[in-house]
Amino acid sequence: MKKVLETRTVRVGENVLIGSGHPIVVQTMCNTHTSDIDATVAQCKLLAAAGSQLIRITVPAMADVKHLEEIKNRLRAEGIQTPLVADIHFSSEIAMAVVPVVEKIRINPGNFHPDHQKARALFGEFLQLCKQYNRAIRIGLNHGSLGKYIVEKYGNTPEAMALAAMEWVQMCMDAQFYNVVVSLKASNTVVMVQAYRNLARMMQENGVVFPLHVGVTEAGNGDSGRIKSCVAISTLLEEGIGNTIRVSLTEPPQNELPVAQYLAHRYSEAPAPVLGEREETILQAACDYGAPLLNHEVDDIPLSDEYLKDELLQACRRKFYKPEYIACPGCGRTLYNLEETFNRVKEATAGFKDVVIAVMGCIVNGPGEMADADYGYVGEGFGKVTLYRKKEPVLRHIPEDEAVERLVELIRNDQVK
Ligand code: SF4
Repeated sequence: MKKVLETRTVRVGENVLIGSGHPIVVQTMCNTHTSDIDATVAQCKLLAAAGSQLIRITVPAMADVKHLEEIKNRLRAEGIQTPLVADIHFSSEIAMAVVPVVEKIRINPGNFHPDHQKARALFGEFLQLCKQYNRAIRIGLNHGSLGKYIVEKYGNTPEAMALAAMEWVQMCMDAQFYNVVVSLKASNTVVMVQAYRNLARMMQENGVVFPLHVGVTEAGNGDSGRIKSCVAISTLLEEGIGNTIRVSLTEPPQNELPVAQYLAHRYSEAPAPVLGEREETILQAACDYGAPLLNHEVDDIPLSDEYLKDELLQACRRKFYKPEYIACPGCGRTLYNLEETFNRVKEATAGFKDVVIAVMGCIVNGPGEMADADYGYVGEGFGKVTLYRKKEPVLRHIPEDEAVERLVELIRNDQVK
């Protein structure tokens, strides 16, 4: 008998239901520029056809609200009813402007204003508007961008992430607004799993459990990205935690869907994806061994495939056989060819040990999101890159064609010190 955490049900648009008792909902996000309406409409069509039940689109500027509206109108005119989710990072004005436009809005209310009381007031206004339009929201907090107020008040731990989320959850309850999904993503699988467990427990103790959107943020690409996502997400799903999934890969977004569909099918009544034999082996091993490794129930696993074993052990943070990579999936804010650059960085740095290297798509959110990274490669735009050591920018405005080499130099020089 599968465990299920009893949650409320959230309705997104006419037909998408998120919560216990419903199959797990899979979703992804466009990586086109929202101002490029043709490209975004084309990508949404492709993602809807590939089975994405929700499609998220970034709204970085007020001008993009109109673009989002046009995208939605064009999709609906073509009979594509997949609900759209506006991804808002900082601006409460943009968050409020998109409420009449799309079915769901993802926000981190703590970023609405540097003054916490003002952020609370703005979130209160936002909730009233969402109530008026009968919208769904996701309160999305990430480990890397908890905000000064939260870190000062609670620290930077999985417990702090859950406590921070609970403040906004409580505000929703006080406003009697219940169309709420919550996420607490991290790129570190141990932190991510613990944060969601804490939040599930706290919501249960509080008497109202909102559905959870689960995902490992900045998981990277290829086998590592898939394995990292699967070990953490499956560990939670084994415990009945998780109602909608986004597998975040630094690859075309349609590649995320079969992985999310595999998880949704394994743990709920969702349809099975068509997978290649190798991909299925990898995902199955990640789901079979993820929880025992992450929970320290076993120290070793009976796999003869040494590469897969190493990847699994590293994803569960039990052994580091290569650098640990963090890479965002890219979105409409991405300012360079992220996928290609990430592969070049991986190739050039493969020989280093005991380092965490981040490759992030934009200078607005990238530096804040790359929690735990020892080094960061962040696109500034206009062909320039900033290189970070921990959270400090150490080399700015480096031309893109020199940046990978300069990153290698930076790490090498630090390691011989
Ligand atoms: S860090 Fe990456 S995914 Fe996040 S907003 Fe910037 S480009 Fe988009």
